[in-house]
Amino acid sequence: MDYFDLHCDTLTRCCDGGVPFGADGWHVTARAAGGFCRYSQVFAIFIEERYKGRDALSAYRRYRKFYSEERMPKGPHILSVENAGQLITSENDISKLAGDGVRIFSLTWNSDGPLAGGCLGAGLGLTPLGRMAVRKGEGLGMLLDISHLSDRGAEQLFSMAQGPVLATHSNARSVCRHPRNLDDWQIDEIIRRGGLIGLNLHDPFLRDGGGADINDLIRHADAILERGGGRALAMGSDFDGCTLPGFIKNGLAGVEEIFRAFCESFGKELTERIFYQNAADLLLGGSIAKD
Ligand SMILES: [Zn+2]
Repeated sequence: MDYFDLHCDTLTRCCDGGVPFGADGWHVTARAAGGFCRYSQVFAIFIEERYKGRDALSAYRRYRKFYSEERMPKGPHILSVENAGQLITSENDISKLAGDGVRIFSLTWNSDGPLAGGCLGAGLGLTPLGRMAVRKGEGLGMLLDISHLSDRGAEQLFSMAQGPVLATHSNARSVCRHPRNLDDWQIDEIIRRGGLIGLNLHDPFLRDGGGADINDLIRHADAILERGGGRALAMGSDFDGCTLPGFIKNGLAGVEEIFRAFCESFGKELTERIFYQNAADLLLGGSIAKD
């Protein structure tokens, strides 16, 4: 099978842990990656909220260097920055990220940051610096990621974005009410703009109170498909950054089992779109690709 995943934290976890990229024992292993026919992964450089100013920049450089020196099988793979707000103080900073091969970035993590309000913050929208980042990033062909953004921030981002918008690792709030998940209007906007929504496998985002099973994941997919998301729905596992529910035993190596369950519910053609083709159409279609 083919697999395209919009978000994992493997890069920063392996770098911080001082182990090779994709070492055994993590969710995303080079061994499991090698088992797919085609496999593309968006690898996130996650800048933790505790890193500010020069510390954020040196963390970014450490992760970026690690990514350029280590190889993961298959690809082309894509680089993103999660919580880029810790790094960006000027247009030039965004140009540098683009020059480094970063193709997707999010403005915040959960708290309010210098670019925008986070999903667990005080409900703030985009700051003037955040608006600049959206304009400049899109101008450079980068894609904006609204996972972790506040609702108000998402609304304002939609009002100014010109191109497709992503939610790389978020589910449907109509199924699980967590603020990290997407409200129906956000799902509709992403679909209308030709963007992507990556299904997140973090247990608390799948079922209120946790303890999710495969049917919960299918319910999230269904909620997005019902709104016309047949070309927008993708996978965004959050591997190596999430707590997996009991039904997913082996991280990336367990994806094939989920794929089979989706085939039973949605048919093979649509399942293949969700697990690979939708993301490939947008992200490998042109200048966005990187190997
Ligand atoms: Zn995240």
